[in-house]
Amino acid sequence: MFGLRFPINTREHTGSWYAATAAREVDYPTLENDIEADVAVIGGGFSGVNTMLELTERGDQVVLLEANRVAWGASGRNGGQIIGGLGHDPDKFRSQIGAEGVRRIYDMGVECVEIIRERVARYAIDCDIRWGYCDVALKPKHMDWFRETQQEQREAAYPHELVMLDGDEVKEFVGSERYLGGLYNANGGGHLHPLNLCLGEAKAAVGQGAQVFEQSKVIAIEHGERVTLRTERGSVRAKRVVLCGNAYMENLVPRLASRVLPASTCMIATEPLGEAMAHEVLPRDVAVCDPRTALDYFRRTKDNRLLFGGLSNYTGLVPVDYQSVMVDKMLKVFPQLEGVKIEHAWDGQMGISINRMPQLGRLADNVYYVQAYSGHGVAPTHIMARIIAEAMHGESDRFDMLSSIRHMAFPGGKYLRRPAYAVGMSYFKAKDYL
Ligand SMILES: Cc1cc2nc3c(=O)[nH]c(=O)nc-3n(C[C@H](O)[C@H](O)[C@H](O)COP(=O)(O)OP(=O)(O)OC[C@H]3O[C@@H](n4cnc5c(N)ncnc54)[C@H](O)[C@@H]3O)c2cc1C
Repeated sequence: MFGLRFPINTREHTGSWYAATAAREVDYPTLENDIEADVAVIGGGFSGVNTMLELTERGDQVVLLEANRVAWGASGRNGGQIIGGLGHDPDKFRSQIGAEGVRRIYDMGVECVEIIRERVARYAIDCDIRWGYCDVALKPKHMDWFRETQQEQREAAYPHELVMLDGDEVKEFVGSERYLGGLYNANGGGHLHPLNLCLGEAKAAVGQGAQVFEQSKVIAIEHGERVTLRTERGSVRAKRVVLCGNAYMENLVPRLASRVLPASTCMIATEPLGEAMAHEVLPRDVAVCDPRTALDYFRRTKDNRLLFGGLSNYTGLVPVDYQSVMVDKMLKVFPQLEGVKIEHAWDGQMGISINRMPQLGRLADNVYYVQAYSGHGVAPTHIMARIIAEAMHGESDRFDMLSSIRHMAFPGGKYLRRPAYAVGMSYFKAKDYL
């Protein structure tokens, strides 16, 4: 059936393949009383959980409040693609942060991937991590972009090798006739089970003394020398607070809501394909993305399913029958999967910013926030969390540089910003066809 609808959410995990295979050992309690903490974090996605972990590792007593479940939002629903880099084009901020600032952002784009690598190893997090990432080209101009990226990264002393692939070589990575070539990164990107990574990171923090409360939505913030966060049934009074609700934070802080646009994207998971078909489809088991505004992204799972994502919609709505739209998209890439059963379909909201750079800053001396990774946050959330923790512990260089980047509010006010931006983005989507 044609048409768009609002996403349907409950306070439990969505019906994703990730939720069906989650290594979830506990339900964290709901906050039922009034407590104190050094730091209180709002939101239990990668941003919030890693901020909690970084601060706990530095000795702070941290409380995290999650409205639903740990990694209930984008962090537990995404494509699981580990993609380096921060923002879509750091160079365009040169006039605001200088050449040195741009270089530091490139370095952060490398470090964010390394944090995941180290964290998985240090805490022995079982999240099916695999290395290898491939951009694929649908048009000659995409190949030009990949060559430019290769050159830029070389100049920025990127530590991993990027290999251009021609039309025959790309088939060694993706069993499809659709692509003209690609750009392969063997070790600087990859894929994993994001829900299990986030659960493992939360467990690591709790093991060192942090406290997590689920189904404990923050409904009010009272500012002051100590900040009080009120939930429906309790409160946390903390010296400092970090807001990490991203695209799901609604209007808790209108100033932040006006700068992040929740956009939807959808995913499907096939039934297990069997070793032979899984190998035919993705012979080298890498994560794959094309470079369009409304991109396709896909990868294999440990049990040889194909996870296929796409259908970004800047109104935040999803097609009523998005599963069949996604199947059509998948069959355009892999016609050999005709007739394969789809066992899971789900959607999620990512936070978009106008300039495509994550927003990091402070609402007051003791109230920090981070949001708006613009569709690419699995790795970047990890470095942002580290930079917030550094700033709270007296090393604020990186925080100050990033928070000096200007972020505009979306025009159109509370009710019109979604349709206004969706119309704007349809221009870029139309350009994908040229
Ligand atoms: C379907 C999908 C596919 C994606 N694929 C990729 C990918 O392959 N690679 C990639 O790099 N990025 C991808 N992304 C983007 C990436 O997932 C996000 O950038 C990242 O997870 C953002 O993490 P976060 O912690 O900031 O936000 P979220 O994970 O959305 O977490 C925010 C949390 O805050 C909670 N919250 C909100 N308000 C309150 C409140 N008032 N009180 C308490 N809690 C609150 C929410 O319940 C939620 O759990 C994808 C996103 C989606 C939706």
